[in-house]
Amino acid sequence: MKPTIVLFDIDGTLIVAGGAGRRALETAFERCVNRPDALEHVRFGGMTDRLILQQAFDAIGIPFEEKLAQEIFRTYVAALEDELERAEHFRVLPGASDMIRLVRDAAGLSVGLGTGNIEAGARLKLKRGGLWKHFSFGGFGDDHADRGELLRSGAERGAKQLDCPLSRCRVVTIGDTPRDVHATRRLAELCPGVETESIGVTTGSFSSEELTLAGADYVFAGLQADGVLDAIRLPS
Ligand SMILES: [Mg+2]
Repeated sequence: MKPTIVLFDIDGTLIVAGGAGRRALETAFERCVNRPDALEHVRFGGMTDRLILQQAFDAIGIPFEEKLAQEIFRTYVAALEDELERAEHFRVLPGASDMIRLVRDAAGLSVGLGTGNIEAGARLKLKRGGLWKHFSFGGFGDDHADRGELLRSGAERGAKQLDCPLSRCRVVTIGDTPRDVHATRRLAELCPGVETESIGVTTGSFSSEELTLAGADYVFAGLQADGVLDAIRLPS
């Protein structure tokens, strides 16, 4: 088996935050630009935080400015901490903790994140579920608005950890939306020669049919399902 970098999505794949992320971002838009309604028509699934901000700015007719974006992110992170504390419906999804540990402890595998969350948000969400301690690298929403590009950032960090050039590695992504699958395709375009595979899990809002149609190499009912680790370890 080639040295393999495994990049986990967060929301809908490892945890469900019970709406804490959306509420925190609404609070940030309210506090920074007095527009709590900015996100009304923005769907979050599989998005990156920067893309969510861009769509929200478009919706309320405010030009995207980096300084304002950073202010909104700072306010969001402070609000997220409170929201996560009181999020009654927050949960770690079945099998997530065990799967992360299995991947982390297996020879030739390196476990990381491939998430649209900015790193500070990812940290808070995963800390709430006791999972943050398992991760030492990832591609995050701070790296890029484009999910494929942020996967590349994560993959490059994983290759460094494996002490192997990325061109000789395999990258496996695990996510719950067609956007995760498409981003994995994009990663393959961005890094010619790198073997990529995507695993879809139906623990979010998308069905097995939708993930298969998007081009997922494997689809499972969740991380507890038989065969997930085999799919990670064995190229198709
Ligand atoms: Mg997700």
